[in-house]
Amino acid sequence: MRDAEKAHEDQYFAKRDRALLQKLKADVKGQQRPTLGEAGSMLCPKCGERLVTKEHLQVTIDECPACQGIWLDKGELEQLAHRENAGWLARYLGRSR
Ligand SMILES: [Zn+2]
Repeated sequence: MRDAEKAHEDQYFAKRDRALLQKLKADVKGQQRPTLGEAGSMLCPKCGERLVTKEHLQVTIDECPACQGIWLDKGELEQLAHRENAGWLARYLGRSR
């Protein structure tokens, strides 16, 4: 009984994952422009506003025009900290360690 339930669950997730993958593929197909397309923009996790991509010290960051939040991935943060070695960001990161 348990195995059957588990199998059913696996099937459900496999199905769902496939649907998600198909959606992702469709999304990627739809935005093949190399420029930063409107459709490809991320939405702010805080307020849902469309993030604006900006380049700061050769590092691309996503900025929210509504709440002024700045979103970047770990690599980008480290790149920024490295470049702004004497800056506030490096100090902030140094303190948090
Ligand atoms: Zn926001």
